[in-house]
Amino acid sequence: MIDLAKGKITRVTGPLVEADGLEGANLYEIVRVSKYKLIGEIIELREDRASIQVYEETSGLMPGDIVSLTGQVMSVELGPGLLESIYDGIQRPLKSIEEKSKSPFIKRGIDAVALNREKLWEFKPIIRVGDKVEPGDVLGEVQETSIVNHKIMVPPGIKGEVKEIVKKGRYKVEEVIAIVNTDGGVREVQMMQRWPIRLPRPKAAKVFPEAPLVSGIHIIDTFFPVAKGGVAAIPGPFGSGKTVTQQGFAKYCDAQIIIYVGCGERGNEMTEVLNEFPKLRDPNTGEPLMKRTVLIANTSNMPVAAREASVYTGITIGEYYRDMGYSVALMADSTSRWAEAMREISGRLEEMPGEEGYPAYLASKTADFYERAGRVKCLGSEGRDGALTVIGAVSPPGGDFSEPVSQATFRVTKCFWALDSSLAYKKHFPAINWLQSYSLYIDNLEPYWRREISEDFPETRLLAMSLLQDESRLLEIVRLVGMESLSNSERLILEITRSLREDFLFQNALDHDDAYRPLSQQYQILASILHLFNKLKPIVDREGFDFDKFYGLKVVNKLPELRTYDNDISVYKKYREEIEEEIELMIVS
Ligand code: ADP
Repeated sequence: MIDLAKGKITRVTGPLVEADGLEGANLYEIVRVSKYKLIGEIIELREDRASIQVYEETSGLMPGDIVSLTGQVMSVELGPGLLESIYDGIQRPLKSIEEKSKSPFIKRGIDAVALNREKLWEFKPIIRVGDKVEPGDVLGEVQETSIVNHKIMVPPGIKGEVKEIVKKGRYKVEEVIAIVNTDGGVREVQMMQRWPIRLPRPKAAKVFPEAPLVSGIHIIDTFFPVAKGGVAAIPGPFGSGKTVTQQGFAKYCDAQIIIYVGCGERGNEMTEVLNEFPKLRDPNTGEPLMKRTVLIANTSNMPVAAREASVYTGITIGEYYRDMGYSVALMADSTSRWAEAMREISGRLEEMPGEEGYPAYLASKTADFYERAGRVKCLGSEGRDGALTVIGAVSPPGGDFSEPVSQATFRVTKCFWALDSSLAYKKHFPAINWLQSYSLYIDNLEPYWRREISEDFPETRLLAMSLLQDESRLLEIVRLVGMESLSNSERLILEITRSLREDFLFQNALDHDDAYRPLSQQYQILASILHLFNKLKPIVDREGFDFDKFYGLKVVNKLPELRTYDNDISVYKKYREEIEEEIELMIVS
């Protein structure tokens, strides 16, 4: 074993320490700091002087304290047992830290492995001795939870012929399950692999996303959808609904794997997630949601450097499940706190500050992070498709979207759900402003919508959105000169858009029955409201039409009920027939 150098601390500034004497150290190498053995990472090297960000509380550290190299880079453990786990920012399971701390307060320098070393997993081999394998090929499977089948893949860098493979049976994550003859010699493969968090995991190719990630949130799925493998930003001032929306995705979206990174938010918000999640059940399978979820909790009272690492820890785990061919969704709440951690470390390094004190590399780091999302052809001869969708919350101070973190994010995300405090104030939830938000995935998703939902889905959503735009113009006119100045068809637009807002866009995330609706039902509700519009439009401007008749229509009074119907096309079809019958009657009377 190589003797790894030990150095000494020369300076301590908050989460950053400087040390010298670390000969042979590498950038991003993990070190142990002081007698407490705090975990740190070398983030800058000048000769043998290293700047180290420490992932734990640094109080009490002093110049002269020992720093030891470990020869490892900051990496995560990947293998069965990730799902249902709750980790801190550097993948230590919160439960075992708590047990080892013997108190709810995290003690320093605790070593806690991410994957349980003792647990036996039932491994089913699917390849045979003599088979040729390459990175990404599936050696065998483990039923990780009742809903997720974990594929044990050949790690990147190993290619050759299978010399040995274990029989079906129960194994620990570190046991050798296969031996591969490669050009570079014999390589052992275990169920667990490691991957450096700052390095994207390899893929065969990126491919265009073509299916939506359905969240059950009407305004998102129908108006501003994110594709599976897409990137979305949800910016908004404090209290406008970022966390509630992100949690809505985590609970109901149709991804197979969920990674939820609570990054630098207040502890009580994360506690809600930690308490609530284990009790929730997936509406599709009826199974507990945790069975497809990994939670990463790094709250505002936890060390700032670990916050910087937490999003990388999360996305690396996400990429690993993507590599198995799953559709993964990662929620990061909030990337602004991540950027603030970057700013703090950069300030301590005395780097030249960019806009508002953020480092000049804020934009490129943000872009690199979101670049790791995507729909991909996975490594491996099977040619699997996988997708990793990333949804980042941004909390601009004072809701000002021109600040650097928002700007860096908007440049790279293709979906923008603008939360609006005035809507939140009016209790219109989700408080996503339909005039400011956008999605650049519409062209990708059109064929899917026409095929899977309805031939006229794209036109239906466009009509609804254009009516809402007309509404804002008309309301301005009403504000200036009053309702009397509007024609009947303009009044009709205002009535229909009110229904669009109240009966379609409004959704209460805190009510389980209302929080989620499948896309097919969203379409039925929207198409029904617009059917009323289309049928009335040619009539209301006829000479002598009394607009008050509109309010007397039974079908109009039924609009709020539309969302309570079963998700059954025939029910909505019946409603649309009622519209036609009642309007027919109105014309003749
Ligand atoms: P942020 O993360 O932006 O600070 P939150 O997501 O915590 O804001 O939302 C603040 C409050 O607004 C929530 O506690 C909830 O009462 C209300 N709220 C936000 N979104 C919704 C929603 N979709 N449905 C119902 N209430 C909501």
